Amino acid sequence: VGALTYDVAVVGGGPAGATVARLLAARGALVVLLEAERLPRPKPCGGGLTARAVRLLPQEVRELVRVRAPGARVRWGPWEVEVRSPTPGVWLVLRPAFDAALVDLARQAGAEVREGARVTAARRVADGVELQAAGATVRAHRLVCADGATGPFAGPLGRAVGLGPAAPRVGALEAEVDDPDGAGGVWLRGDFDVVRGGYAWVFPKAGVLSVGVASWARGAGGRVLHEALRRYLVRIGIEPARVVRLRGHPIPVGGRCPAAALWSPVAVRVGDAAGLADPLFGEGISHALESAHFAAEALLADDLAGYARRVVREIYPGFRVAALAARVFYARPGPWFAVLGRMPRAADAAYTLAVGGSAGALAP
Ligand SMILES: Cc1cc2nc3c(=O)[nH]c(=O)nc-3n(C[C@H](O)[C@H](O)[C@H](O)COP(=O)(O)OP(=O)(O)OC[C@H]3O[C@@H](n4cnc5c(N)ncnc54)[C@H](O)[C@@H]3O)c2cc1C
Repeated sequence: VGALTYDVAVVGGGPAGATVARLLAARGALVVLLEAERLPRPKPCGGGLTARAVRLLPQEVRELVRVRAPGARVRWGPWEVEVRSPTPGVWLVLRPAFDAALVDLARQAGAEVREGARVTAARRVADGVELQAAGATVRAHRLVCADGATGPFAGPLGRAVGLGPAAPRVGALEAEVDDPDGAGGVWLRGDFDVVRGGYAWVFPKAGVLSVGVASWARGAGGRVLHEALRRYLVRIGIEPARVVRLRGHPIPVGGRCPAAALWSPVAVRVGDAAGLADPLFGEGISHALESAHFAAEALLADDLAGYARRVVREIYPGFRVAALAARVFYARPGPWFAVLGRMPRAADAAYTLAVGGSAGALAP
């Protein structure tokens, strides 16, 4: 058992955990980041960074952007609508490299990073928490649960550090597709007539495509998603041999965690672990980054309740609007396409709003 007690232990080296660790270490805190995998590690994700996310990213990581999408081509039945923001509002990255770069920046800021350190046990001790990770005992005064939608702090480990139940989740399935000649272009594609209560997408990343399906409908399990993705690949003309990797992963539906699930006297949940993915499209990287910034500030002020209040005050109102939009839109997408197809300016405005403005204006 090491005698060292860290100020903060961060569990999970995705965008949320790497960002909290970087911000805290840069302010002089003694931080350890425990990541289960060795980096770079795969993560099923479209890798679409909205303008909202780009604004929160350090300059170094923006250099990893592979494509700046001028807009999206969205389809339902007979309708195809092209939507764009004034400058590219979604930038695309490959998650393994992106996540590894964010963790590197945390390391450079002074955080101790342990890869291959899967946390398997947690308990409260007098002055904080004690974790077991890959045979080592780690003690810290405060804990950041950034272990994503499938991490152990959603269950018994969360309860052990005083956190309430985690957010409900929807299902998603993603195929990484080889696109050596870049035929996928630079536009995002979204099809809303492939799976009930959800959508299918193609996100181009220069040489690789992310093709996936997600559904918000009750009962849309693995079998439904696999079948929908199989049909979609046929529809867009992708032979099975081009699929490099196929993986399912849940998306936590945003705004459903009560404040009591976001913090305890010794711990906070951030990013997907806090259920902070957008309830309309499942975009979660921007909220992972935003919650990381809130958490770092709250930890430095030792006001963990303040973190939860800030999430509820600053992130949840947007989620409530998105959840309402999701309910009416996914119930019957057709009429909305008919409206947006006839009102291109309104469609562009809706897209620009959904991606949080224009990231292109920030581009180097
Ligand atoms: C198919 C799919 C497509 C998506 N597309 C997009 C998109 O285009 N744009 C967008 O903004 N969002 C998208 N999302 C959502 C986005 O991927 C997540 O919101 C985002 O990754 C959340 O970041 P995070 O840091 O909270 O969690 P994660 O990125 O999931 O990171 C969690 C980390 O914790 C680690 N971990 C887990 N358990 C342990 C443990 N016991 N000990 C130590 N470490 C542990 C994991 O290895 C992982 O590295 C998509 C999601 C899915 C499923």
